This record gives sequence, C-alpha cells and structure tokens, in this order.
Amino acid sequence: RLGERNFILAGNWKMNKTNTEASAFVNKLVGQIGNENKFEIILGVPYTALDRVADITRSSKIKVAAENMYFEDSGAFTGEISAKMLKDINTEYVILGHSERRNIFKETDEEINKKVKKALSNELKVILCVGELLEEREDGLTLNVVERQIKKGLKGVTKEDMSNVVIAYEPVWAIGTGKVATPKQAQDTHESIRRLISEIYDQDVANSTSILYGGSVKPENIFGLFSKPDIDGGLVGGASLKEDFIELANIMR
Ligand code: PGA
Repeated sequence: RLGERNFILAGNWKMNKTNTEASAFVNKLVGQIGNENKFEIILGVPYTALDRVADITRSSKIKVAAENMYFEDSGAFTGEISAKMLKDINTEYVILGHSERRNIFKETDEEINKKVKKALSNELKVILCVGELLEEREDGLTLNVVERQIKKGLKGVTKEDMSNVVIAYEPVWAIGTGKVATPKQAQDTHESIRRLISEIYDQDVANSTSILYGGSVKPENIFGLFSKPDIDGGLVGGASLKEDFIELANIMR
C-alpha cells in the first residue's frame, strides 16, 4: 500500500487544550515521535492553537490542521475564519464536514462543498469527513448517506484537486462512544467509498486517495483496523489528547 497512497495518523483535538496545554503536549510529542516514520502525522487543533502548534512542529514531521473554516474570502461574517487566514499561519490541512459540525452546527452538504472548494483554491489540503448516524445504520442506509455526503461534498472538485483531498469515514455512533466499528464494518464502507471515487473520477484517483477511519480509535484497536486493505490510517479524537497519540504513532512506525 505504501507508495500508492499516504498512510496517515491524524488527530482531532476538537474544543480542547488552551495554548499553555497545547505547548506542553506538542513539545512532548515532537520529542517522542521519531522523524523517520513513513506515514504522515497531522494534528487538528483549535484556531487559537494553530499558530503556536505550527511553530513548535516546524522542524518535525507533524503537520497542522484547522478543524473548520468559512467559505467566504472576507467580510461581515462575525466570528468566522477564512482559508487565507489559515494559510497565512502555515496551516496545511483543514478538517471539513466533521459530524459535530454537521449535527451540532447544522452544516449542510452544500455548505461543506463550498468550504472544500474554497480550501482547495487556497492550497489548503482537505480532510473531508463522512459517516452515518446510528439510526441510519440500523435502517440499512449507511452507504446511501456516505454516498450522498461524498458526491455533494466533492461536487465540482477536479481530478487534479483530489491529490489534496483525504476522506475520513467516521460512523457517528463510534465517535467518542468507545464503540469502535469492527475492522470488517469499516473495511466494507471504505471499499464502497473507494469504488465511488473510481466512479466519480477514475481508478487512479481511487487508488491514490487516502481513506481514514475515525471513531474510538485507540492503541488497542488499531491493528485489526489498519491491517485492512482500504483503511489508510485513522482520524483520532479522544486518544489524540493523551499519551495514546504518541503510542499510536510509535506503534505505526
Ligand atoms: P473519537 O473521535 O476518537 O474520540 O471517537 C473521532 C473524531 O471525532 O474524529
């Protein structure tokens, strides 16, 4: 798999860590995660910590991601942050369409699509999150939901732009619940996502797009998940706030 597409360990701090806490944690991370790892390490941090974390990680292999952004360039949008603002402080990635943005803040597929296109046109790489709710899985709608989120989220995104897009499949019932998808459940959905990408674009794009699994990823459960052929790494919430993230990085090495 390596060489064909990137294997990625990504963290998502969500609304956690002050800058004081972020500095202490990331300094430790930089000291304990080797630079020789073959996979990519990305850390999603709150807006307030982006500049600080980018500064601390500059000479390491850790890249920094914002957890959201707005789709307009500038103007009267009180409280929002633009792609250009992120780019200016050396943010390399932005996480878009996370289930908490979709469900708590009611972001629609159309808004997420505008964000995806705005990020890409500002040379930010995108981690596009998709995933079904528990009731959608129980109703057998997992693939319908994921397909809709991907088709709408990537509408107008070119084949060339896809080299800057990572997909994260995060079943909502597995996020923060300790209830991880089984390797087979995750693999089945990842395989369908890759097939869908090959239908929208082509097989080359499908083969080179990294698809991450997210939802209660921990050092104890990565072996089963990451051994599956279509799972190219993880997007890690809770465990990225702790020593577990260092352990995950060192296990994957
Ligand atoms: P979790 O969160 O690892 O705490 O389940 C994953 C995510 O929301 O990205």
